[in-house]
Amino acid sequence: LFDTALAEAWIRSIAAAVEKEQDRLTELDSAIGDGDHGSNLRRGFDAALAALEGLQPTGPGAVLTRTGTTLISKVGGASGPLYGKAFRALGAALPEPAGPVALAEAMAAGLDAVRILGKAEPGDKTIVDAWTPAVAALRAAAAAGATLPEAAAAAADAAEQGARDTVPLRARKGRASYLGERSTGHQDPGATSTALLFRTLADVTG
Ligand code: ADP
Ligand code: MG
Ligand code: MG
Repeated sequence: LFDTALAEAWIRSIAAAVEKEQDRLTELDSAIGDGDHGSNLRRGFDAALAALEGLQPTGPGAVLTRTGTTLISKVGGASGPLYGKAFRALGAALPEPAGPVALAEAMAAGLDAVRILGKAEPGDKTIVDAWTPAVAALRAAAAAGATLPEAAAAAADAAEQGARDTVPLRARKGRASYLGERSTGHQDPGATSTALLFRTLADVTG
């Protein structure tokens, strides 16, 4: 079950993955944005890790809520408020300890928060394009009685596919939308980092 220790392990795993993939995220954002997605997330998740140090969390939700608040305060780019709101909503929605069904609903609440703030639809070449199929896969797996590791692995696969599927899309939200047609042919940086979030979730639960 998704408990406080798993929530902390997830944030540590995200921070490590962001460090490892920072250059790739930066390259993707250099192609269709301003080249700071890797450094934005690095700064945000390093700060999120530091914020966990002094925290005596009351449950997994508190870990994620604190992470969201930290991302909002430390990341200036579009991704800071979007991921920040997502983690805050996810934390608020997460019971302790959460099984696959509760985790799926919490992730759906995180997606709702992204969509309310950013107003992106699926197909707009954003975070939403990885997060939406991940929630669908998580829900389907949970409904079929999958274990937490099985459900998280299905969500990670779906998020990675969703990120790959952004390549031919034309961006309609965020900086990449300024490029119009020239935003096609590149994978969206935010959808790529969302796939990292779901892959690390699968790693720590599995
Ligand atoms: P900035 O664009 O301010 O430099 P980042 O580079 O950190 O911020 O993040 C860029 C990513 O944010 C994009 O690749 C895209 O996935 C995501 N993004 C931008 N605008 C939106 C939005 N309105 N809704 C969802 N995601 C968005
Ligand atoms: Mg950027
Ligand atoms: Mg920027």
